[in-house]
Amino acid sequence: MRYLNDFSMRAIYKKETHEDPESENNTYSNFTLNRDTEFCCEQFKTLCKKFTVWNYEQGKFAIVNKITYEGHSVQPIDFCPFCGEKIEYEDENNLKKIKKKKVKEF
Ligand SMILES: [Zn+2]
Repeated sequence: MRYLNDFSMRAIYKKETHEDPESENNTYSNFTLNRDTEFCCEQFKTLCKKFTVWNYEQGKFAIVNKITYEGHSVQPIDFCPFCGEKIEYEDENNLKKIKKKKVKEF
């Protein structure tokens, strides 16, 4: 068990915009999870290896919420379903926050 309060898992993704082959002048975005994403725990890492938990359309981890005759709906998650760590989603091209915050001393 980890007891660090300030730990959160960082899911860094790459956003790619493609032209929609089905309609002209339309684009759609595809989010790819960075391969070196460090998972908060082994269970979550294993789950991601076995199943497609990453949602390419939303750029978030998502779990199946409901299964219907038409298919299934997914629920994006902000917290790890196993250990409860917060998952921070960040764009690869917008990683300003990665720099360590300067600690102000008074
Ligand atoms: Zn976890």
